[in-house]
Amino acid sequence: MALDMEFFSQMEARIPKGEVRTRFAPSPTGYMHVGNLRTALYTYLIARRLGGKFILRIEDTDQERLVEGAVDVIYATLRQCDLTHDEGPDVGGPVGPYVQTERRDLYGKYAELLIEKGGAYRCFCKEGEGVATVTLPNGETIKKHQCGCAKLSREEVQAKLDAGEPSVVRQAIPQEGSTTFSDLVFGEITTPNNELDENVLLKSDGLPTYNFANVIDDHLMGITHVVRGSEYLSSSPKYNLLYQSYGWDIPAYVHCPPVMRDAQHKMSKRHGDPSYEDLIAQGYVSPAVVNYVALLGWSPGGEREIYTLRELAEVFDLKGVSKSPSVFDIAKLRWMNAEYIKAMDPEDFYALAEPYLKEAVKTTSIDRKAVAALVQPRCEVLTDLAERVDFLDKLPDYDVSLYVHKKSKTTLENALTSLQASLPVLEGLEDWSNDALFAALSGLAASLEVKNAIVLWPVRVAVSGKLSTPGGATELCALLGKDESIKRIHAGIEKLS
Ligand code: GLU
Repeated sequence: MALDMEFFSQMEARIPKGEVRTRFAPSPTGYMHVGNLRTALYTYLIARRLGGKFILRIEDTDQERLVEGAVDVIYATLRQCDLTHDEGPDVGGPVGPYVQTERRDLYGKYAELLIEKGGAYRCFCKEGEGVATVTLPNGETIKKHQCGCAKLSREEVQAKLDAGEPSVVRQAIPQEGSTTFSDLVFGEITTPNNELDENVLLKSDGLPTYNFANVIDDHLMGITHVVRGSEYLSSSPKYNLLYQSYGWDIPAYVHCPPVMRDAQHKMSKRHGDPSYEDLIAQGYVSPAVVNYVALLGWSPGGEREIYTLRELAEVFDLKGVSKSPSVFDIAKLRWMNAEYIKAMDPEDFYALAEPYLKEAVKTTSIDRKAVAALVQPRCEVLTDLAERVDFLDKLPDYDVSLYVHKKSKTTLENALTSLQASLPVLEGLEDWSNDALFAALSGLAASLEVKNAIVLWPVRVAVSGKLSTPGGATELCALLGKDESIKRIHAGIEKLS
């Protein structure tokens, strides 16, 4: 087949030069696992830090793994995390298409070019044929493809193709020498060439394997920094041989170690570890997840841990990326989430909390915005909200022992006295605001010559039926309203009598 050299020069001419270009290249599997999100984040941060472009490419050539709606999950995750891509299937760009299955013809042409350059050959072996066991100098044995197809003459290949014999394109790897490259995280890596397998680059259906498509696309998209999981580290020498065969520059590599569930196991959706979407469903907020994920295997140096995305983009430095796997610590994420919630603008928090509060607090007279303001400083994950505020709708059936509070010396006896004394004070109160309630009840404590807590604690228990509440007695009374508060205090008196 004659090579269309004009096509290759046009493709070369499209490649943007003189700028940093990074890409996030997920396979649409239906969810974004934490390691994937971290890859996306580091890819984004490198581009932003270095004033470059962040590109989204969808790697969908593995048709068996395709999941419907999966690409939408990718878009939604990037959007929710504010990882805005400059080029991609939805926004276009100078080097599209950005979906691999839409680039199919191009891979065929580049495979022919590679055959011409001696970096690949047509292989007519059937599945499982041509596999040899090879002993390496260190005594280890490996299975490798070794067949005679590479030696077929041009005419022999053409005859087989004309006869309709199915074939693949396979990478030709020199058996001598070694390939060395430098990874920005793992340092210099040298691999003897005879350890590298001659993998399939183009399948018999014309679709490329990852081993081929990643090189073609990274080159044709002008990618300067390849960020991906360290599971690709051992294959990178093969990719580098492909770059060399074409005479192309090799990008900088940033291989990131895995995110682990514990010392032995990688996080995996199959084993119940949360994906990004799961974390959101569990009440974590995107900026906290992004901040936490940034610190999984990267350290800014120093003690500080809270960084917004914008701040990360200012300080992110590849020198801080660790070679060792990091362990996902949900307790740490929970802490960070609480910090983010605390710092949030009250209106923004209300917008996030509203759906949860709507479920938990159905009493229409209760101001949900005021409830949100009360819980905001104490909320760790949004999903806790219901449990923290459900007493507002209905007083739970609580145990009388809740009234005993050792530290303030509140006993069942003085609790009863306090509640009884608070009734007339509260009944006579016109202004039912937190401030007025506090003034009234602390005035009562003063006249009883007891500490505030001996009055406030029993009122809090009586109106909430809980040991821990968002806010103190007077804040809760203000939320519940006068009638409901007084009704609950009556019920408390009855319990204690
Ligand atoms: N599609 C590959 C994956 O999802 C991406 C690897 C890469 O970034 O090169 O694992």
